[in-house]
This record gives sequence, C-alpha cells and structure tokens, in this order.
Amino acid sequence: MIVMLSAVRLISKAAHLAARRHNGMARKGRGNEPYINHLAEVANLLAAATDGADAELVAAGWLHDAIEDTDTTREELAQKFSERVASLVVECTDDMSLPKAERRRRQVIDAPKKSAGARLIKIADKISNIGAGIHSGPTAEERDDLTDYVDWAEQVVAGCRGADGWLDTTFDDMVLTARASL
Ligand code: ZN
Repeated sequence: MIVMLSAVRLISKAAHLAARRHNGMARKGRGNEPYINHLAEVANLLAAATDGADAELVAAGWLHDAIEDTDTTREELAQKFSERVASLVVECTDDMSLPKAERRRRQVIDAPKKSAGARLIKIADKISNIGAGIHSGPTAEERDDLTDYVDWAEQVVAGCRGADGWLDTTFDDMVLTARASL
C-alpha cells in the first residue's frame, strides 16, 4: 500500500527519523556539534532554495546521510516516505567500502549524472560542511583540512550547478568566506 503523506507530515517524519538514527553522532571538527544540526541546515537550505515547493526534496535533505552513516536502507525509506525520497538519498550515498580518495573522485565524476534534486542536495551539503570548517584562528591542520575540502567541493559543485541560482550563489559566497578565513 502506498501512503501519500502531506508535505508537513512527510518532512516532520523525516526529521524525526533522522534525529533518532543519527542520535549521539557528532560532526567532525570543533565543538562536538550534534550531527542533526547538519541535517537541519541542509534541509532548510533546500526548503529555501525551492521556496517550499518540494517536500520530498526537503525530506531527502533530512535523510541524505541516513543510508551512508546509519543502518537505514533504501527499502525502508521507499516504504516510509516515497520512492523518490529513497532514490534521492541513494544518489547522495557514497560506497563506503571504497577508500576516501576514490569516493571523492567518484563524487566529482558522478555529479553531472545525478538528478536535479540530488544535485541540489549535494550543493547544500557542501555549503553546510564548508561553513562548519570555518573557524576563527584556525590551526594549521584546520587550515589544511578546509583548503582541501573547499578545493574538492568546488569540483563536485561544478557538476551540480544550474538548477537553482540562489543555491549556486550561496555556495560561492561560502567559498569566498572560507578562503578569506584561511
Ligand atoms: Zn551531509
């Protein structure tokens, strides 16, 4: 049976599942920021970019790391949310059996082949991650990490641009802020 949820219910349910699945996880870097803060930021960027017109995209924003980082499966997301939510999350899931350098290389190569929605999620994800890496008085290691991440994120986002001008500009502004902080 396919249950069609209203936009509010779909997004609330996605936020709730994300909060439970990522419970106790922290972001990398300073401050031990709860992982859910990243998911909330990505979902909110997607809601703003689409002016609230795409509930499935915002739900996928909440859930975009659920398959990669928790025991959540594609089937579960398809059943609890929708086939499109599940496929958007799968498109944003790296093969964690591969080494990090290869995963990064594939993101660059695969970005232009992704659906428009997945490309928006990837840009929002990079905006959030760059923002989290900007610190006052960065250590040498923080500086290296951020430089490395921004260089790579620009390559990924080069293959994701064009679907939403505001999100593209928000990414560019975040890159400028990051580079100015180094
Ligand atoms: Zn993410």
